[in-house]
Amino acid sequence: MLTVSNLCASYGAIRAVRDVSLQVGAGSLSVVLGANGAGKSTTLRAIAGLHRPVTGEILLEERPIQRMPLHSVVRNGLAFVPEGRMVVAPLTVEENLSLSRFAGAPNASEIEDRVYALFPRLAERRKQPAGLMSGGEQQMLAIGRALMTAPKVLVLDEPSMGLAPAIVDLVFEAIVALHKDGQSILLVEQNAAIALSVADYGYVMRRGQIVIEGDPASLKENPEVLEAYLS
Ligand code: ATP
Repeated sequence: MLTVSNLCASYGAIRAVRDVSLQVGAGSLSVVLGANGAGKSTTLRAIAGLHRPVTGEILLEERPIQRMPLHSVVRNGLAFVPEGRMVVAPLTVEENLSLSRFAGAPNASEIEDRVYALFPRLAERRKQPAGLMSGGEQQMLAIGRALMTAPKVLVLDEPSMGLAPAIVDLVFEAIVALHKDGQSILLVEQNAAIALSVADYGYVMRRGQIVIEGDPASLKENPEVLEAYLS
């Protein structure tokens, strides 16, 4: 569904991502682990059309998207939930969701109902300004807003960041439900234990490169993963 090949991305002279190749199969969930500064967010931002890569190819289904403007990337079926959520604070939950309608499928009301079914807390807070909601609720809203575009691939940057454990569980229950429903997902996570418990395949990044990859069972037994992320 999504194939990234030999992706390189820089900030001026700083090469943040070097030769990264990864895949998300149709209906599968791939996770990227790594320490702070490893290049995970830059990789996702490049995939999502927010950071122009220096070289490399990003195929969504069979279509190259690495040179497309952001709105075309969204229209072609890739939705990105950034780190820090970026919901529009003064707007209500339903207004935030409707912001993505223009890019979405004609059945926007149906998708909105699905978002509320996935996150009943959002349904209860429909008329509430997003800025007055908890971090967890804002994360749910950010995911809901991405789903409004009916993405073929949903790309999530650290959805657990700054959330209490019980709320992390709620957010991940929703991610698992989406995955079970056939949604293809690319997830960056610092919380390796929870990420590997839901993923079909995992990658570990260090200093801009993918240094380990494999299925979750093999990653959980890898000494470097055990020491750096699961101890
Ligand atoms: P984190 O979990 O802390 O977000 P990350 O793995 O997502 O880390 P990136 O944010 O992609 O890592 O950063 C990769 C490298 O690029 C780091 O060395 C970082 O300092 C550098 N970097 C990130 N953003 C910028 C920027 N806007 N300008 C210059 N360098 C940057």
